[in-house]
Amino acid sequence: MKFAGVIKNSFVDYPKNISMVVFTFGCNFNCWYCHNRDIINGEKKEFYDEDEILNIVKNRINFIDGIVITGGEPTISKEYELIDFIKKIKELKLKVKIDTNGTNSKLIKKLLSKNLIDFIAMDIKTSKEKYKSLTCANDKDLCEIEKSIDLILNSNIDYEFRTTFVPDVKIEDIHKIAKRIKNAKSYAIQKYIPQKHGIIKIPHTFEEALEALKISKKFVKNAFLRSFD
Ligand code: SF4
Repeated sequence: MKFAGVIKNSFVDYPKNISMVVFTFGCNFNCWYCHNRDIINGEKKEFYDEDEILNIVKNRINFIDGIVITGGEPTISKEYELIDFIKKIKELKLKVKIDTNGTNSKLIKKLLSKNLIDFIAMDIKTSKEKYKSLTCANDKDLCEIEKSIDLILNSNIDYEFRTTFVPDVKIEDIHKIAKRIKNAKSYAIQKYIPQKHGIIKIPHTFEEALEALKISKKFVKNAFLRSFD
């Protein structure tokens, strides 16, 4: 398996754990605010092969609790390669967290049933009716997202749903999302941080974020704001 990048030490990507973050190539969505555009559109040519990543992991094994597999979208990787990589990480007695957009429920189900992941973070980009315009999702993706939400809600591992509060996502969308994941263990409303390059839109105010949080908390006790000052 090839990886687009690695962060050797992270204190923020795996809740309550020190992690190493690895990035997979490609994504089936095309969110305008994507921070990893070079790895989703094939621009990035340099890569780490699996052995290089495993060597870095082994060299840092005493300093990290787990690995975060992010992207891009990890679940569009070849299934056998991803599972094989995760098994190698688990053999090293490290935890595994995966970040996903939820469009491959079959793989998520497999990872959960085989106890291959310890934490899953799923993006819920917006309310159902706005998904296609924000992400380029198709009908099958929407169906998969619904299945993945239910799988995660009914799982017995730690998890988090999260939404980046981009200007296109309104407070009423956050309301619909929170209602859909009622009683979830955790829901993060993440700050949209405009990038230097690409499309820039005016972010929501802190007051709007607080309002979104207040509404979310009616459905998810552990809803919280992430990266808002
Ligand atoms: S789902 Fe994530 S990786 Fe894919 S385009 Fe959207 S923000 Fe980027």
